Amino acid sequence: DRALVWFRRDLRADDHAALHHALKTAREVFCVFILDRDILDALPRTDRRVAFILDALRVLDDDLRRLGGGLIVRHARAVDELPRLAAELGVQAVFLNHDDEPQALARDARVAEQLRAQGAELRSFKDHVIFERSEVLTAAGGPYGVFTPYKNAWLRKVNDFYLRSYPVERHADALAKTLLAQGVPELADIGFEPATLSPHLGQGSRGAETLLADFLDRIDAYDRQRDFPAVKGPSYLSVHLRFGTVSIRRLARLAHGRMVGGDHGAEVWLSELIWRDFYHQVMHHHPHAMTAAFRPEYDAITWETGAHADALFQAWCEGRTGFPIVDAAMRQLNQTGYMHNRLRMVTASFLTKDLGLDWRRGEAYFAQQLLDFDLAANNGGWQWASSSGCDAQPYFRIFNPTSQSEKFDAEGRFIRRYCPELAGLDAKTIHDPWARAPLAMQGVDYPRPVVDHAVARERTLARYAVVKSRG
Ligand code: FAD
Repeated sequence: DRALVWFRRDLRADDHAALHHALKTAREVFCVFILDRDILDALPRTDRRVAFILDALRVLDDDLRRLGGGLIVRHARAVDELPRLAAELGVQAVFLNHDDEPQALARDARVAEQLRAQGAELRSFKDHVIFERSEVLTAAGGPYGVFTPYKNAWLRKVNDFYLRSYPVERHADALAKTLLAQGVPELADIGFEPATLSPHLGQGSRGAETLLADFLDRIDAYDRQRDFPAVKGPSYLSVHLRFGTVSIRRLARLAHGRMVGGDHGAEVWLSELIWRDFYHQVMHHHPHAMTAAFRPEYDAITWETGAHADALFQAWCEGRTGFPIVDAAMRQLNQTGYMHNRLRMVTASFLTKDLGLDWRRGEAYFAQQLLDFDLAANNGGWQWASSSGCDAQPYFRIFNPTSQSEKFDAEGRFIRRYCPELAGLDAKTIHDPWARAPLAMQGVDYPRPVVDHAVARERTLARYAVVKSRG
């Protein structure tokens, strides 16, 4: 009997649920990745994620060959191509890992139906998170709406069983060699332009390996360093978690082991991995929140619209708001496809609460630009900042961008890296240069602030008042 493993957001050959189950079940196992035209055709030709994926596929193909198989790569519509390939190979089952995004679920349901019609089945497994769907519920049997009790329940439930790796190598002799595995195409072959990726990310699972080794040397300092964008504090593993070039079980096991050993940095980092699970189960239980406010009363808010609002949005996207920390953050995003977590909170708060713009506009821009874009986490982050989400920041808590800058980039090191035109200013004036050093700003090509924070703050409190009356 034959099986096909369909890789999607799990681009590695080790500790892989679907691959492991397929190898244990079938005598001959084929592997495929489909460069899905339903997704790719809508992307700009310069999208960096496509370059990341192709790199990751090359490493995956290499690893599968080393284990005795190889990767079939197709550039087509997945809903058509997957059943076609399954028929061509004569497989009885297609194995894959859950993807709980609404569009992915709809796609997989169509594929399952088609396979059924051909007499084959689709078998899907949890792989992307430690706990999914309804695995962690309250005593009353409902989903958690607050993070801390969710996290406590998560920590009570977790044990070696959930953190154990799938030993793919053990049954690797079932991997089939096939002439259909003809290597991975180049960007140009599928109509994309060359893209520059930060060399630190590395290629696929090998890049994740290097980043992880580097992070484990400083994980104990994570709690103290993670909030300062100029410091190498976080792991930078998000894109690898997004595309599954590293296993979440392995990361959670490492962090959990260190936490039990008394490492506070590892404990705080594990908390972030639990946030990731938290937002995934929010998406499962509340799919409406992927397009509307999680708390419906927030849909009554009237956001700024019109030509002036559009110009403000453009200034935000391009890093020209006149608020150096916001501009440096947006330029980091535009140049690298990454933004530090503290700055994601600052820029998201700025868009919604200083510019008065709908959080969905910012969410969509991040979705285009972030290499690590993940629907559940991005939506969770934006609805946290706009106060409309599950366990969100209260609406009357409004970040002051200048004090955030003074607190988290005190020396202005991060600002100078991405706003070189401000490099000559000292640590006192760089956070609010037009107010504090107007003379030094003469002749500097840097915009004046597009809004007055104090005025914007009052306007936001008034804008959100509608929530109080309905909530
Ligand atoms: P680390 O600090 O090393 O954290 C380790 C991992 O934990 C991350 O890689 C990520 O997988 C997970 N994680 C950390 N914080 C969160 C969080 N708040 N929610 C969910 N998971 C988390 N994260 C994404 O992966 N994709 C997104 O599209 C995304 N959009 C965001 C949008 C906004 C407005 C905000 C405020 C946050 C967003 N985040 C998103 C969460 C967080 O900012 C990133 O995960 C983090 O900055 C990635 O960097 P890192 O891997 O170095 O993080």
